[in-house]
Amino acid sequence: MNEIILKGVPAAAGIAIGPAYILDKQDIVVPPRDILEQEIPIEIARFDEALIKTREEVADLQRKIGDEMGTQHAQIFDAHLMALEDRTLIEDVIKGIRQRKQSAEYIFSTVLKKYAKVFAELKDEYLRDRIADINDIGRRVLKNLIDEDKLYEIERLEEELVIIAHDLSPSDTVSMFKKNILGFATDIGSRTSHTAIMAKSMGVPAVVALKDATLRITNQDLLIIDGRMGLVIINPADSTLEIYRKEQERIHSLSHRFDDMRELPAETKDGHRIQILANLEIPEEIPTAKGQGAGGIGLYRTEFFYMNRRDLPSEEEQYEAYSKVACEFGDQPVTIRTVDIGGDKFISSVQIPRDMYPFLGWRAIKFCLAQPQIFKTQLRAILRASVHGNIRLMYPMISGPSELRQANAILEEVKAELRVHNIPFNEHLAVGVMIEVPSAAMTADMLAKEAAFFSIGTNDLVQYTLAVDRANEQLADFYEPCHPSVLRLIKRTVDAAHAEGIHVGLCGEMSGEPNLALLLLGLGLDELSMTPLSILQIKQLVRSVNFSDAQSLATQALDLRLGSEIEDLCKLRARELAPQVFRVDARSSQNNQGKAI
Ligand code: PEP
Ligand code: MG
Repeated sequence: MNEIILKGVPAAAGIAIGPAYILDKQDIVVPPRDILEQEIPIEIARFDEALIKTREEVADLQRKIGDEMGTQHAQIFDAHLMALEDRTLIEDVIKGIRQRKQSAEYIFSTVLKKYAKVFAELKDEYLRDRIADINDIGRRVLKNLIDEDKLYEIERLEEELVIIAHDLSPSDTVSMFKKNILGFATDIGSRTSHTAIMAKSMGVPAVVALKDATLRITNQDLLIIDGRMGLVIINPADSTLEIYRKEQERIHSLSHRFDDMRELPAETKDGHRIQILANLEIPEEIPTAKGQGAGGIGLYRTEFFYMNRRDLPSEEEQYEAYSKVACEFGDQPVTIRTVDIGGDKFISSVQIPRDMYPFLGWRAIKFCLAQPQIFKTQLRAILRASVHGNIRLMYPMISGPSELRQANAILEEVKAELRVHNIPFNEHLAVGVMIEVPSAAMTADMLAKEAAFFSIGTNDLVQYTLAVDRANEQLADFYEPCHPSVLRLIKRTVDAAHAEGIHVGLCGEMSGEPNLALLLLGLGLDELSMTPLSILQIKQLVRSVNFSDAQSLATQALDLRLGSEIEDLCKLRARELAPQVFRVDARSSQNNQGKAI
């Protein structure tokens, strides 16, 4: 078997080596099952029965549709019935069961994949479109071959596997936490999609935007995921495997190289200090955040609390969770962001219509203002938890003073209710806003008069400023965090905050990117909040430079006209000013073709 190299977009650094497991909710994925010689006829008979049953079902369906909608519509199923009679397909499966001594469902699913691949490569558009028919009929046959409860889902995975999927939602990814997932790769997706953000925070190597990985990879193929260069290597040659195993060991041996930074402040050589905090998706990440010396939580994305469940989280549940995080961090700030659903994050307990442009749809604060009961429950929980530590409250996707006032009005109602019932909360709770919509950056001077702090969300600020969907891999080249307009909006926001004497942080993925951290430092941010595993490296970077050098870098960058020039300048200066931080990363920084985020 020759090795095949697929190139995608790097989403989370690291190397994973292990067997593939194709997870596709559209398809029924079947794990391999070996059978004994004497079971071969049984498996062939099971396959025959499944075909007969499926033919009956399809014929039934065809009759029904014919009666209700006319024969023209019923004809769609002719193609399905023909596929069920296809001698080559049937013989391929029977031969596979005999020769490979594996279960009927597993062999059938691999043959199906092979057919889908052949069809995908056909030039004729009509024939290419038959893939859908083949997949559809394949699903029906598989359903008749296996018990539903034998279907693998992430929750049930026990082995160490590399997950391959067409797409993964943030809620799929969150259920990978604490599973033996070695890494993952998807056909679509981008570096700032929430799925990629989750992978980074779990320290799981990931590659996205591979286009057709699910068609080219088969269950149990041995895979290498190179999350730094955005590569997936299918069935690597022994020599490749050896190189990667060595590289894996090297990365492992370097994983503690910044450990000395843990207890030290993020202070430049000339004495300018900033705060480095962690972004948190789920409370299970607290030990990592603490272990990496986070100075608190700069962004707690509470929406993950609402995912992977059919009901909404109760006030009590949320109170317990927020209190726990607050207690864990003692005096250090814990910035709880009110729920930001919509965009690429959906929950089952509330029906949110799928907008044509979800990122411009019913999302975050707009959702909360329209659903005051859900919002109030969360606000009550946060307020009650505020007595247990240094909680800060933050609203997402505020577009200007009007939304801030509306949200605060609801907050005041909740506070009044708590006072009536003598339920304690921190009367001085700091309430801040995320600056992630250009209109918020443009009105930052006004917002700064009414907010206790700002946190700039560049993941969204970039997409809304440049009109580039952050989750669309086709637009990856247009998603430019260093675009001059983005830098100007950041600068404007920082100046507005400082003019009113409030502090301003940045919690987008940019803050954990070593190539860009000095630029952000020079732009005057007081706080950088990032995925926990980036903290120590960024701290070392800050401690290696003078603030004055970072400021000159920012001044120079603000004068350049092209995002690519700014990015190059940042990379160059970072290496000149702090070579020791980059030396060991030489391989990834030279080869990583993914844009800085
Ligand atoms: C951002 O937009 O930069 C941000 C931190 O929020 P999220 O990624 O959750 O949208
Ligand atoms: Mg955002």
